[in-house]
Amino acid sequence: MLIIANWKLNGNWSFNEEYASALSNGLRGVDLTSRQIIICPPSIYLQQMNGLLVDQEIYLGGQDLSDETAGAFTGEISGVMLKEFGCRYVLVGHSERRLKYQESNELIVKKALNAIAAGLKPVVCIGETQEQRQSLQAEKVLSEQMTALIDGLGQQIEQIVLAYEPIWAIGTGQTASALQAQEVHALLRGMLEKVSPLVAQNMQIIYGGSVKAENAEELLRMSDIDGLLVGGASLVVAEFLSICTANRAT
Ligand code: PEP
Repeated sequence: MLIIANWKLNGNWSFNEEYASALSNGLRGVDLTSRQIIICPPSIYLQQMNGLLVDQEIYLGGQDLSDETAGAFTGEISGVMLKEFGCRYVLVGHSERRLKYQESNELIVKKALNAIAAGLKPVVCIGETQEQRQSLQAEKVLSEQMTALIDGLGQQIEQIVLAYEPIWAIGTGQTASALQAQEVHALLRGMLEKVSPLVAQNMQIIYGGSVKAENAEELLRMSDIDGLLVGGASLVVAEFLSICTANRAT
């Protein structure tokens, strides 16, 4: 099970120090064998966080990477650079990147392939807008996003983590109910059957969208939800700790 904190454009030197110390202390003695905790700070703080999170099995992820590997691409960061600074994971195709920076399915596939080539696990985000959901287009949109991934990544799709993040639930306080999320996760898993039953079965499909301590456990109880991607609530260390330690009852 994966619990990923996406800090977005937040954090600063002293916040990070306090956060890392509180997180490490809070997780001391907690059995993390069945779950991985991943923090995605702004990339400029990766080195600092890498130094701070040394005594605990807490991993780092990037929030984005370039679709290029090197050269004249001002402002970009490559997968190899993220890897060098201690990342194991990288978010790809977050809705904020898709919407604000017009990232296409094609670009997202390129980024995911670059991440895999650099030895990172891409956490590829998909999800529908409120408008698409209300006009009953959600399934169509998700299917298009999945088809782009399946066709573009080929067999390498088995290297990714899939994050279902309904855009209407991101940063809005409006969470998909556990049952709504489960239904979509099962649908996505079904779409992966096209690749192979094994890929469908093994794919980690995590949910993101206004996850909080109070709904984490219910979401994690769903059979097709393999983890959580947490934005706003991950910035409050006590709240994030509760999410990290939420039980996955069976
Ligand atoms: C996110 O940014 O991936 C996210 C899920 O944000 P929030 O938890 O704030 O909705």
